[in-house]
Amino acid sequence: MSELLRGAPRAEDALAEVARCLLCGSEESELRFEEPPFRVVRCKSCALVWVTPRRDPSRLVEIYQTAYWHSDAAKDFGYTDYQRDASLYRRTYLRRYSAIARHCKTPGEVLDVGCAAGFFLSVMKEKGWRTQGVEVSGYIAEFGRKNYGLDVIVGTLDEAAPVLGDRRFDLITFWDVVEHLPDPIAVLRRAASFLRPGGKLLLETQNVRSLFARVLGQRWQHYKHHEHLYHFDPRTVRELCRQAGLRVIENRARLGGKYVSLGFVRERAGRVHPLLSTLLFPLKLVERSPLYVNLFDEMIVVCEKA
Ligand SMILES: [Zn+2]
Repeated sequence: MSELLRGAPRAEDALAEVARCLLCGSEESELRFEEPPFRVVRCKSCALVWVTPRRDPSRLVEIYQTAYWHSDAAKDFGYTDYQRDASLYRRTYLRRYSAIARHCKTPGEVLDVGCAAGFFLSVMKEKGWRTQGVEVSGYIAEFGRKNYGLDVIVGTLDEAAPVLGDRRFDLITFWDVVEHLPDPIAVLRRAASFLRPGGKLLLETQNVRSLFARVLGQRWQHYKHHEHLYHFDPRTVRELCRQAGLRVIENRARLGGKYVSLGFVRERAGRVHPLLSTLLFPLKLVERSPLYVNLFDEMIVVCEKA
């Protein structure tokens, strides 16, 4: 198998049903839609949305290896060429820095969980923060080490915990991570234990009740069933945090926009309707030009220990 295909999901991968709601334990759920073998269901009691069936938790990290960062079907899985878009990601995080500056008056120590290529941490380093990354993909972690001189522990947060030891952080971030975790309560609870008194935990995740998500229905770009296991909304994300021992102090969509290339717009528009992608074909000529897009379907949630 080519190295670039390592970790790509295959049709024969074993999947297991998830019948019970993570947040309230209810087994009463209703079907929102189906894309075999996957079903997107919503808890009748607390409205949490999740995907079933899914990979065994122990085998989930496999899908974040090389293929995830060089996907040939990014609208369903992973990224087309994650490192190539470094300048777009860094520009996005520079803009989002204002969300952090509101809560952290002076630079301190930051831990980024699921730091990927280290784009966010590279920005934080420039702002004067001391940085630490944790990332399950050794392949993408290496990029951050080489290009930005970052310290990245390869593994899950649980695996990184003994290495982190008694270090404590002023800020812990999860950018587009919690929706990928089979047990986000446990991971956030563990993360909270690494906060200094007064420290903040920031997470970003997609809002399944946003206008954009409701209008697009099952064509919403965040339905990527191999990787996005949960879809939160302002209420369920607050409950998630509460169960992890965190209190939400702010939840805003305003800074949830991102810089994207016009090529990306064309590729994602194809998911809404194949014809759109064809109509937008002229964008191919300028597809590396950056564009700031905010669909107000992301939440940037800032918490502190309850
Ligand atoms: Zn529930």
